[in-house]
Amino acid sequence: MTDTIFQKIIDKELPADIVYEDDLCLAFYDINPVAPIHVLIIPKKQIDKLSDSKEEDKDLLGHLLLVAGDIARKLEVGDAFRLVVNNGAGAQQTVFHVHLHLIAGRELSWPPG
Ligand code: 5GP
Repeated sequence: MTDTIFQKIIDKELPADIVYEDDLCLAFYDINPVAPIHVLIIPKKQIDKLSDSKEEDKDLLGHLLLVAGDIARKLEVGDAFRLVVNNGAGAQQTVFHVHLHLIAGRELSWPPG
């Protein structure tokens, strides 16, 4: 299996502006932000996309959500932030390693594009 860019960031083979790290996950600023705050939260376990996750990943996925809330507090975005998961190429997923986009710091319209 070929490593994704995110695996290289996890392995510290590629630099990233890291916001948070623990045994299970890593969070870092997106290289091409779509908002003043745009953080990617990724599990250290390789899962290509959310729809590939399994029952055994339940705690891990829940952990990512809790970490997202913690990061939002740490970055003082208040309660105005959005979490996005692009699942599959048809939904504009470009890096095939599950990730949450945490987006904040500007007016967020609805529906998203
Ligand atoms: P996706 O389109 O798969 O949902 O999101 C992938 C995200 O990864 C994009 O927002 C893109 O800007 C970001 N990204 C791609 N390569 C890199 C990289 O090398 N470093 C960082 N920090 N972000 C990246």
